[in-house]
Amino acid sequence: LFAGPVTFVKGVVAMSGLPPADRTEVCFAGRSNVGKSSLINALTGRKTLARASNTPGRTQEINYFALGEARYLVDLPGYGYAEAPVAIVAKWQALLKQYLAGRQTLRRAFVLIDARHGVKDVDEEILKLLDRSAVTFQAVLTKVDKINKVERAAVIEQVKGALAKHPAAYPEVVVTSSEKGEGIETLRAIIATLE
Ligand code: GDP
Repeated sequence: LFAGPVTFVKGVVAMSGLPPADRTEVCFAGRSNVGKSSLINALTGRKTLARASNTPGRTQEINYFALGEARYLVDLPGYGYAEAPVAIVAKWQALLKQYLAGRQTLRRAFVLIDARHGVKDVDEEILKLLDRSAVTFQAVLTKVDKINKVERAAVIEQVKGALAKHPAAYPEVVVTSSEKGEGIETLRAIIATLE
């Protein structure tokens, strides 16, 4: 689907470290523990690509993966660690702002939302930042295997309601389970159509 192998390119800690903006890229953001590593691994079909559960307070990197020759997948550090030091959070937010506002080839941000919790205050910050940066974002519900059909319908409504307030939001929500494989093909297909 991505015409070529999926490989790790590099971890970036400053704008100067970004690879040349020579191809389409998509980024993944989400609260820590939302299931971002699991989803990226499911999406790329690799088991050990994205390291699960980054340690809070550690230097946070923007991880670049090549999806074949034509696309980058960008794994943004998880946010919302209760115990993350203020200085680290500030540094990370500054880099994130610069990245989102300045990356010409960034086509879409996928914001991961735990299907059990819906959009929380901690998510609103990045949604506002994406609005201000004019980066189209799409919500991806994770761990949907943990909820039933009624809860699924309710959380989709909650998320759609929250998205309606954001001009940069793409209206459709992707529903996934890395555990069961649900929604993974859909997400791959969405990424493959972005030029
Ligand atoms: P990250 O911190 O966002 O990278 O989250 P991880 O991918 O490390 O996942 C956090 C926890 O949620 C781990 O215990 C995973 O096994 C679990 N998890 C992730 N995705 C799923 C899923 O689709 N279904 C279920 N049931 N658990 C999941």
